[in-house]
This record gives sequence, C-alpha cells and structure tokens, in this order.
Amino acid sequence: MSAYISSALQRQIRDRFANCCAYCRTAEALTVTTFEFEHIVPLSADGTTDFENLCLACPTCNRHKANRQTAIDPESQAVAPLFHPQQQSWSDHFAWNADTTEIIGLTAIGRATVAMLKMNRPQMSRVRRMWVKLGEHPPEIG
Ligand SMILES: [Zn+2]
Repeated sequence: MSAYISSALQRQIRDRFANCCAYCRTAEALTVTTFEFEHIVPLSADGTTDFENLCLACPTCNRHKANRQTAIDPESQAVAPLFHPQQQSWSDHFAWNADTTEIIGLTAIGRATVAMLKMNRPQMSRVRRMWVKLGEHPPEIG
C-alpha cells in the first residue's frame, strides 16, 4: 500500500538514515535501485504517514518486511517484534561480523529482523565483500 509523502518529508527521512536502508544499512548509492519509504507500522495496522513511522528501506528489506511487525527469533523460537528504526537504535540490536559482510542480531528483535528480512543472503554478503574492498562499507550512520 502506498501513501502520499511530501518531498520535504522524503528529504527528512533520507537525511535521518543517511540515504541508507534503515534495516540492512545498504547505501542506496552503491546499488542500482531506488530505495523506498517504508511504513514501520503498516497502514493496514493503522500506521501513520509521518516522520516517526517512516524509514528508508532497500526494496529487498521492504519486500520481506511487507506488513509484518513481528517474526520468530531463530534462537528462542519465540515471536519477537521487528526492529523499529525510528524508536530503536540499530547498534543496540545489530552488529557487523568481523569482516562486515554479515549482520549479527544481538537481541531477539535483532535476530528476528535479520532472519525475516533475509539480511545475510549469500549474494548480499558477496556484494558487501566487494564494497569493503572499495572502502565503501560499512556506512557511517548516527
Ligand atoms: Zn535493506
């Protein structure tokens, strides 16, 4: 589902996430895709179209997240909320592995989000390895 998002609000969200995916932190400039404005709480669950409920997402994360708000934590097999990029800090829930080609979920939220959004697909890790060689990864985001 889509909703009108003013260009001023789009700029604000792009600035907030430094033109990177709020989930997998891929930098849009390193891809050939246009990133999308994602409703963190989906419109179908009465999520609002405002700064607090929008983030920038790569098409892959956006597609896998879809209208979900929870997923299974692969460690405990319990249902966990998905990461909320506006209310939670990425580094509280995720970390890069030693060579920064994979994202490690540090919490139930992090692990469930990594699994549901398939953030460590083999092709993604391969591409991250190339970006590391180019000195373009990982991105610096506050
Ligand atoms: Zn992503």
